[in-house]
Amino acid sequence: MTGASTAVLVALLLVLGGLTGAVVGSFAGVVRSRGWRGALRGRSHCLGCHRTLRWYELVPIASYAVQGGRCRVCRAEIGREALVVEMVGAAAGALVVLGLVGLVVLVAG
Ligand SMILES: [Zn+2]
Repeated sequence: MTGASTAVLVALLLVLGGLTGAVVGSFAGVVRSRGWRGALRGRSHCLGCHRTLRWYELVPIASYAVQGGRCRVCRAEIGREALVVEMVGAAAGALVVLGLVGLVVLVAG
């Protein structure tokens, strides 16, 4: 493999690891705030207007960037905890990939 294609592969793996970590982190945040039963049952809703959140509002990093951390309808502030948990998850996922890549490099030479 050439150096360039290896770099692209590592970058893709980092993005994939980051996304996976973000999903896991996001779910962990829901479990933390609602418990296992609540996380697996029922949909997230706005604490201000009790409206059920749409799927694209359930991705904290994306919805924070688009909606500025507020409900799309009533503008109630959405807690930052979900955002932080998801970002930590993304960073952890990317770090795991980085560690695995380092391990492969060490073993394969
Ligand atoms: Zn609302």
